[in-house]
Amino acid sequence: MSSVIPLPDGGKIVKTNCFECHAKCGVLCEVDKDGKLVNVKGNPEDPRSEGRMCGKGLSATKILYDPDRLRYPLRRKGERGAGEWEQISWDEAIKWLAQRVEALTEEYGAETIAYGQGTGRGTNQWTGRAGNAGGRVHHSLSPGNICLVPMMVQAFLQFGMFPTFDGCDFDNADCIVFWGSNSVWTEPTYTSGQVGRSRDRGAKLIVIDPFFEHPLAARADHFLGVRPGADVYVAYAWLNVIMNEGLYDHEFTQKYTNAPMLIIEGAEVPLNEALIKEDGNPQAMLVWDKATQSLVEIHSKGIDEDLEYRGMIKTVDGQEVPVKTVWLGLKERADRWTPEAAEEMCWVKADTIRESARTYAQAPAATINVFQGLEEQTNCKDILQLVNCIIAICGNLEKPGGNLSMPFWNQMGPLTGAEPQTQKELRIVDERAPGTVYGISNPTCLFEAMRTGKPYPIKGYIMVQGNPLSWAENTSLVRESLKCLDLLVCMDYYMSPTCELADLVLPSTHWTERDYLADEVCSEWVFGQQKAVEPLYERKSDVWFWRTFGHRLNPEWWPWESDEELFNWQLEQTHAGITWEELKEKWIHRVPQMPSREYEKNGFGTPTGRAELYSVICLVSGSKPFPEATEPKESVFATPDLAKDYPLTAVTGRRYPIYYHSAYRGIPHLREIVPEPQVIFHTSVAKQLGIERDEWVWIESPTGRITMKARPSDGVDPRICVIPHGWWQACPALDLPGYPDGMSNANTITSDRVYNDEYLTPGLRSTLCRIVKKKEGE
Ligand code: SF4
Repeated sequence: MSSVIPLPDGGKIVKTNCFECHAKCGVLCEVDKDGKLVNVKGNPEDPRSEGRMCGKGLSATKILYDPDRLRYPLRRKGERGAGEWEQISWDEAIKWLAQRVEALTEEYGAETIAYGQGTGRGTNQWTGRAGNAGGRVHHSLSPGNICLVPMMVQAFLQFGMFPTFDGCDFDNADCIVFWGSNSVWTEPTYTSGQVGRSRDRGAKLIVIDPFFEHPLAARADHFLGVRPGADVYVAYAWLNVIMNEGLYDHEFTQKYTNAPMLIIEGAEVPLNEALIKEDGNPQAMLVWDKATQSLVEIHSKGIDEDLEYRGMIKTVDGQEVPVKTVWLGLKERADRWTPEAAEEMCWVKADTIRESARTYAQAPAATINVFQGLEEQTNCKDILQLVNCIIAICGNLEKPGGNLSMPFWNQMGPLTGAEPQTQKELRIVDERAPGTVYGISNPTCLFEAMRTGKPYPIKGYIMVQGNPLSWAENTSLVRESLKCLDLLVCMDYYMSPTCELADLVLPSTHWTERDYLADEVCSEWVFGQQKAVEPLYERKSDVWFWRTFGHRLNPEWWPWESDEELFNWQLEQTHAGITWEELKEKWIHRVPQMPSREYEKNGFGTPTGRAELYSVICLVSGSKPFPEATEPKESVFATPDLAKDYPLTAVTGRRYPIYYHSAYRGIPHLREIVPEPQVIFHTSVAKQLGIERDEWVWIESPTGRITMKARPSDGVDPRICVIPHGWWQACPALDLPGYPDGMSNANTITSDRVYNDEYLTPGLRSTLCRIVKKKEGE
């Protein structure tokens, strides 16, 4: 059936996809004979969402026609941030912008421009291409270091694939674990359906999260209310139980993980063939074969690897060195973390840790879903690596009901083009976070370079639907940095706080008024997202902007005359096997699938060809190859003096299913549901401080202070508080205020002092803070 269905009254139904979050639910848009969008509803033909939609998606007509949306290109007239604008045409905007970029790169060098987008806005490939165009040097200034990248890259390092996000096979799982994730709110339509079905047929549920009000906590078989940032102790205690009680999948661990690989005791570097043999291959890692009682290369077939080998090996220069397996190296670490030892650090009862570990490991098939609760920590590499180890040794990789590799339609490589060599050399990192694995600029260092000009000046920042004054840590420092720019360009739906500081503000089309080639993150689906209505006012699509601006700067690099031409090139480059016209007609298309259980034939895409518990790439990139039980860099244990003044640990970034990050507080029926920012903390703390429910309070950290309404609750540990993010927008229709200058923005209190060494991630989910009663008049 066609994707545009005419209605008898002259209207039509257009099949398309919602673009308000990663789920990209199938939608039927009803348009009347005058071309007005009158209704949206879920498309039951969508095999993933099955016709469900959430409040954000169902608000499409309100968002499309919201009078507060941006309508025309605006150029700054007065002082930066003074709110004085002149309306200009798109032609003028693109011409002016290209001239400014050329002038700045002429004066300061091409690395002076940073490009970015907001999370989940789908144009990373084009911001990358804009930056790489013709060998230019750019910096990506997007929230990748706090969203998706750490867990994706860590999974690729250990497995050569990414099975911990959309790869969760909830439908076939006997046990489902949500670990630092709340997918039933963030991808509500299909995760909730899958989890509901699985629970109905008896699947167990484990939730590991600091927040007892997690929507699944009360329904879980085991709820582990972990101290924010202390998940590493839970994970090591799980390994302790699983390894010592023999609950792991012995065959999978022996044959398909690098647990049997030998490492030299002390240095904990791999024993390779060159160390024991003249002309040996330094890339060849070794295991002990029990059948032949000899050392053999790890890729060898038909061997009987010893998981627990420990012994002395004679090296090529005649020395005797002690070696042991990776399994023993990991077990020694796990042995330190009995559930009782872990309890002291993570605040979860030892029995709960023990029982939940058994439930997970003894399930015939179990899946673990992780997300930002684990990512937005300064110890995110360790916890993500540990979770991957647990999945692997329990044999839940690529098993139906476990964590599956997703054959995702990867646009980044083919579309961004080769990265200029100089870009790598010029990456800005510093000693606070060397970024050993992530390998791109630390966003905070980029903001610093805007302020100081060191190590070289960043003078321009062009972003599409990004609002760093909401997503980046230490908001006041970000504001100060943006004010130092010579060129700030924002394309967006609304006049966000970042737009207010810009030189050029460009109006972006809503998903109902644009054509777009959409993919779901890490999925085999690609969508022909076609417009239901013509763009209103002078809004343009993000793709149109990049293509037109790119063409102006470098026509060789951006040769396409139309978006359709570009989409066809995109589909061709990514081997999707379909044209844009065909895709629009079909609306949804499954790209060729990667065969599952590929590892049985070809191994995993890692240096050892095995699922790696010990990461060889981490070792060679200067990071630790084993996961370690590391504390967050600032915490009640790591910085007790700081904790004396700031005794609460704040989890910032709490989501609401009705809002997308900092967007849509202006939509009246959504705002009615959650009208004000609320900090949640324990009733006993409220009593002690003399604070009543709904009283406005200060939340203070060493970085700054914000104000929110108090919501005392028994649903949190008395030592933590939970803070939502993204509050800036007013709702004039309900006469509800906005919150200027970051006064209720969670990132006003988060720190730019410490980061994860590998992924440059700040500790947004474990910020030390205190709650203070407001004085009269404050
Ligand atoms: S879950 Fe909601 S916001 Fe996300 S794509 Fe579906 S309808 Fe849109």
